Amino acid sequence: MKDVGWYNSYLLDIAYSNLRLSSIAVIFNSIVLGIVFYGYVDTVSLLIWETLILLISIIRFLSTIYYEINKKRFSTKKWKILFYTGLISSTFLLGITPFLFFVQESYLHQAMLIIIIAGLSAGAIGSLSSLLRAVQLFLILMIIPLILKLLIQDSTIHNYMASLVFLYLLLLGYIAKKFNRQYMDILESRRMYRIQKEKLNQSEERFKAVFRQAPLGLIIYDANLKIIDANQEFLDFLEAPFEHIIGLDMKKLPDTRIFSALKAPLKNIDGFYEGEYIIAFSKKKIWVSMSTAPLTDSKNNVIGGIGIVADITQRMLIQQQLEYQANYDLLTTIPNRLTLGRRLEQEVFRYQRHKIIFAVMFLDLDNFKNINDSLGHGVGDKLLIQTASRLKKAIRDEDMVARIGGDEFVVLIPDLGFNKSLAIRNSELIANKIHKSLSEVFEIDGHKLNISLSIGITLINSINDDSDAILKHADIAMYEAKKAGRNTTRFYQDMMDEKLKRRIDLENALRDAIEKNELELYYQPIVKYSSSKIIGAEALLRWHCKEFGNVYPDEFIPIAEDSGLILDIGKWVLQSAVKQFVIWEKEFHHLDLLKKIAVNVSTHQFNSKSFLNEVENVLKSNKINARNLELELVESIIVDDVEIVRKKMQSLRDLGISISIDDFGTGYSSLSYLKKLPFTTLKIDKAFVDDIPDDKDDIELVNTILAISNNFKLEVVSEGVENYEQYSYLKGMSCDYMQGYYCSKPLSAKDFHDLLKSDNGICTILKKR
Ligand code: C2E
Ligand code: MG
Ligand code: MG
Repeated sequence: MKDVGWYNSYLLDIAYSNLRLSSIAVIFNSIVLGIVFYGYVDTVSLLIWETLILLISIIRFLSTIYYEINKKRFSTKKWKILFYTGLISSTFLLGITPFLFFVQESYLHQAMLIIIIAGLSAGAIGSLSSLLRAVQLFLILMIIPLILKLLIQDSTIHNYMASLVFLYLLLLGYIAKKFNRQYMDILESRRMYRIQKEKLNQSEERFKAVFRQAPLGLIIYDANLKIIDANQEFLDFLEAPFEHIIGLDMKKLPDTRIFSALKAPLKNIDGFYEGEYIIAFSKKKIWVSMSTAPLTDSKNNVIGGIGIVADITQRMLIQQQLEYQANYDLLTTIPNRLTLGRRLEQEVFRYQRHKIIFAVMFLDLDNFKNINDSLGHGVGDKLLIQTASRLKKAIRDEDMVARIGGDEFVVLIPDLGFNKSLAIRNSELIANKIHKSLSEVFEIDGHKLNISLSIGITLINSINDDSDAILKHADIAMYEAKKAGRNTTRFYQDMMDEKLKRRIDLENALRDAIEKNELELYYQPIVKYSSSKIIGAEALLRWHCKEFGNVYPDEFIPIAEDSGLILDIGKWVLQSAVKQFVIWEKEFHHLDLLKKIAVNVSTHQFNSKSFLNEVENVLKSNKINARNLELELVESIIVDDVEIVRKKMQSLRDLGISISIDDFGTGYSSLSYLKKLPFTTLKIDKAFVDDIPDDKDDIELVNTILAISNNFKLEVVSEGVENYEQYSYLKGMSCDYMQGYYCSKPLSAKDFHDLLKSDNGICTILKKR
């Protein structure tokens, strides 16, 4: 049995509380007995018995009072011993009365004795039945002596009486047991009640604690949506005191968006609201998440609702920020590639259903890298930001501009109608507008920057109607625009794909070009204006491809660069050119010509780690004087850090090698390079020579270049001189050297050798003039 201690003490409580009345009953009965039997029995025995029983009964009576006051003072066991001692001694005294006070001659006295014993026994059943042992002990001690006494009388009537008393004993025993059972049942249910109550108390306490301390706002409201209770968190959340909240009729709140969630519990279902909410008191706009559940009474009737409210503003802000970061370009704040992709897919879907043409433009800033390298990333970033904002202004709201890479933007123009030629015209107009919007000077951190961009356009059609193909085609068209020169637009045409295919095939063929002996160097004379002497040669690579015929450097060099093949090819070129030069030098040194061999070095090649070593090895193995070697670099060699490039160039210069800046004027910030980098020679690009002497701007530019070169003590080579006018003008401008078809096209080694030989290295056409 569980809770034994509690049981015992509870049963003892009952026994002691009943004892008070029963000890009074014993006192009363024994006084009556004393009076009735006085004179019939031995007076001394009666007095002694009377004294003892009264004394014990009074002690027992007092013990009940003492128990009530000092129950805690002794253990249950001690109280039990006291109780049983009293019980046994008092019962013993009562039990032996038939032997002490049996009046043989008076049936009346005998009957009296039996009545007292029977009465006290019956009473004991009630008062003692909480302790089954006690009642059994009592009955045995009380009734058995009586039965024995009656039996030994040996008369029929006494025998009958004995058997009746015995039956009575059995009956009382049975009743006592039954009473005790009932007691136990009552006791068990009390115990259960006590446990349940304790549990209830605990859960109420727990509920209260949770309600008060929950890190969520909690409210309890009635069926009229009036707030009955709210916890501190909820009050904090509304920034209102308890008095304002309790009794608040939520039906009157101005922001009605939470109503359906609040009312749901009244229909005995859970409610939910998540979204923006304007707080009535502070007028603050926040994001809330509210769950409601029915509040029921003990009969399961809905009497209101419980609401759990959380301020999720912070979470929503983070979520919005994450969404923003995922969908927008953080630098320029315009959509990124992901958003563009989604929009493209929508437009493709629309096209497939309604055949409304749309255009995708791929935009790439010209020479952006140079700006980044020379003026720093800070300026580059600002330029991108301003570009994005200009692009946004140049297009309509329903168009989209996205940034998909460093300086690459994509503009999507939807709704160009059903007519293809009209769509082409309109998208060209938009492209022109974009060119124009970027043509105005950008002012960034005190720098005035002129930028242009190349645009590739593709219109959706059946060939490219998936978003990847559309972007790829726009990209190919943009490449074509780049090739066509800066500030241009090109539309994607189906044959461009063919070009892409050719590019891939060429790359494959180029892999074996050295091994198959398909490469050859041509040499173009570099002539001194003042003496018309061929003082040098530029080595220019030719590829006689078995599969594709003669392929020109403008086509295969970029492929070699992109694929990395340029490293092997460049090495071969350097080695072959130097080797050739050494042979010619030996043959012609007496004629005082051919002082240098110029070799083109690609960006990738220059930036490779082994480049410096390779150059040194070539110098050593061919025993060429380093002063005879000139390396031609282009401005785009600067990939990351100007300082790294400068150091490498300086190492080359320290070996005695000359370095020229090739195609000068086509890059972006050539002038600032000049200051920082140790060039010896400058080659004016053919593009500026072409329109001399007709174009005033070009003349001015060339004049400026010459003045600056003079200032920096650089030698100047003018490239692409094709006619006498150009020649004589540049000669007049005191340019140092010339290179161009006017004197000679690039020639094979054999032809170049013949040229040197034929006129002692004097350019014949110049000599004639
Ligand atoms: P580049 O270094 O500026 O070479 C000058 C180019 O202009 C050569 O074209 C030459 O044939 C051409 N040219 C010279 N004078 C005239 C002229 O009067 N009129 C015209 N229309 N063109 C003239 P090429 O040989 O086709 O080479 C093109 C470019 O390919 C070179 O430009 C250079 O950047 C690159 N390249 C050539 N060979 C090599 C090489 O071995 N290695 C590397 N990395 N690049 C090379
Ligand atoms: Mg060159
Ligand atoms: Mg050049």
